[in-house]
Amino acid sequence: MSDTVQRPAAPSTANCTPEQYDALYERSVQDPDGFWLEQAKERLDWYTAPTKGAEWSYDPVDIKWFSDGTLNICYNAVDRHLDTHGDQIALIFEPDSPDAPGRSLTYRQLHKEVTRVANALKAMGVRKGDRVTLYMPMIVEGALTMLACARIGAIHSVVFGGFSPEALAGRIMACESRFVVCADQGLRGSKTVPLKANVDAALAMQGVSVDGVLVFDHTGGEIEMVDGRDHWFADFASDDECPCEEMNAEDPLFILYTSGSTGTPKGVLHTTGGYALWAATTFHYTFDYQPGDIFWCSADIGWVTGHTYVTYGPLINAGTSLIFEGVPNYPDHGRFWDVIDKHKVNLFYTAPTAIRALMREGDSFVTSRNLSSLRVLGTVGEPINPEAWRWYYEVVGKKNCPIVDTWWQTETGGHMITTLPYAHDMKPGSAGKPFFGIQPLLVDNDGNTLEGATEGNLCITHSWPGQARTVYGDHDRFEQAYFSTYPGRYFTGDGCRRDEDGYYWITGRVDDVINVSGHRMGTAEVESALVLHPKVAEAAVVGYPHDIKGQGIYCYVTLNAGEEGSDELYSELRQHVRKEIGPIATPDHLQFTDGLPKTRSGKIMRRILRKIAENDYGSLGDTSTLADPSLVDRLIEGRQNR
Ligand code: ATP
Ligand code: MG
Repeated sequence: MSDTVQRPAAPSTANCTPEQYDALYERSVQDPDGFWLEQAKERLDWYTAPTKGAEWSYDPVDIKWFSDGTLNICYNAVDRHLDTHGDQIALIFEPDSPDAPGRSLTYRQLHKEVTRVANALKAMGVRKGDRVTLYMPMIVEGALTMLACARIGAIHSVVFGGFSPEALAGRIMACESRFVVCADQGLRGSKTVPLKANVDAALAMQGVSVDGVLVFDHTGGEIEMVDGRDHWFADFASDDECPCEEMNAEDPLFILYTSGSTGTPKGVLHTTGGYALWAATTFHYTFDYQPGDIFWCSADIGWVTGHTYVTYGPLINAGTSLIFEGVPNYPDHGRFWDVIDKHKVNLFYTAPTAIRALMREGDSFVTSRNLSSLRVLGTVGEPINPEAWRWYYEVVGKKNCPIVDTWWQTETGGHMITTLPYAHDMKPGSAGKPFFGIQPLLVDNDGNTLEGATEGNLCITHSWPGQARTVYGDHDRFEQAYFSTYPGRYFTGDGCRRDEDGYYWITGRVDDVINVSGHRMGTAEVESALVLHPKVAEAAVVGYPHDIKGQGIYCYVTLNAGEEGSDELYSELRQHVRKEIGPIATPDHLQFTDGLPKTRSGKIMRRILRKIAENDYGSLGDTSTLADPSLVDRLIEGRQNR
């Protein structure tokens, strides 16, 4: 499975050739301060340019970058482009329904709109340092509001629009936010999402109270407005002037809650200067961004991917970013590809879960579209199975588009490990090489450094500009979660293999590594083997206590459209894994299911599957970020290990 796919020859415009990568990487780890101060001056505009690079300690945890510099990220994403790119499209809006009118904003229009939103926020009483909770559909007003907050020095906390009123209330309280921004409703796959009604429900809960709610008119649906508290955006005077607040590089920019795959979501805090630089630099290199490129990241702005690669990365680079309100399967499974053709998207960035879901429906939805505008394809969120990688590369990209499999986390601010389009050959299933300044370290369970080709727990040694600074209001939790397992190191929580070429292979969460009769294996490996079978759409594998082997292998499997589970298929799949990996990996239990429990961002929640496999499903922990709670009952119903 570890065959190599050759990178395309580097065009003369390429942002990074193999030689450049080697030289820049070397410099970035030999002289991080020099390297990043240089990048900071090249890629960002500062009121006061920084002279200090990193000031960091992991014990106790205290991280700063560029602490004597001042800037405004909204100025960098909008205002500074007005002279040079005023008439260029900054944001393209593609609505849920292909028949509804879309919209696009030039940088000049973006500036005007951001200024209006910023003034509306100010008129509501928002001041520098205040937290503002956004609960928005995927419309341009989401990005506008993020930028408007940044413009006036307010801290945004975006809560995914698919979350319940309870989850929203919890996140409003956790960061003591006194302001909420929402739309009347959202649209997803022709269904309306009652955003304002959910805000009302959240604000009616015990202990939740805010000073103001700003409401955008999106669908025109019926909603209630509370006098004195709720304000229509349209009712604010349109004033085109609003100066950017001069922010210290270490002033907070945003709070964002993690996906909740492994426990209660953490309110990760990012600051201004280092994050801005990380967004700018990774976007430029990872996607080989060229002036004029149309970039589409399909992630919601409620996730870090939407923060860094829908809003900040593209705009700081004066790029054009597409915002899509809908879903991949409405009106049919070809919608992504229609959007790409309609807007001539050059750089496309999505998640393995979407790729697997579309692959399951067959090739015809893709092959019936043109897609010749595509140049680079990206993926993020989970390990991508080589099978899905191949499909993305061959069917979607027609073998013309390099794939960047970007490994990173909410806590890292942006890409950490990825190949670069023209600098590296690709290995399906491997994220590839460390980004500039990133020094990965693999350790065993006792924290001993592992050298060469090996497998272990993935840590990062030196700090990098985009690193989260704390968990909002709970620095102890920040230290505990990331810096206490291996003192002096940032521990990612992920397991990882490094091969003889220095490529990194994320094997899944360390908690997900299973140990069968003394053989350690990543659940991702067994899952990839299962997905190779022509009838299997998706698989999730967990370990459970086994009397003889220590741990047994329990597989949850969903099948392709039109297939059904049977005893024959059960044995066939066990044999198949045996053949692909070896007898040691033979599944002990295999459960066919119509779906897998996923977070709202589309990640498989293995901790729930582990509980069910252990036949211990009484307390499933925090399930507030689960997309379809009813599925859990069906899974318990069909459990195999009774
Ligand atoms: P929580 O921290 O609340 O449990 P989460 O870890 O899912 O949730 P995110 O920050 O959105 O929240 O996701 C980061 C994680 O996603 C990584 O630690 C890794 O496990 C996984 N991941 C992201 N990108 C990749 C990738 N390209 N390959 C493999 N795994 C990835
Ligand atoms: Mg995490």
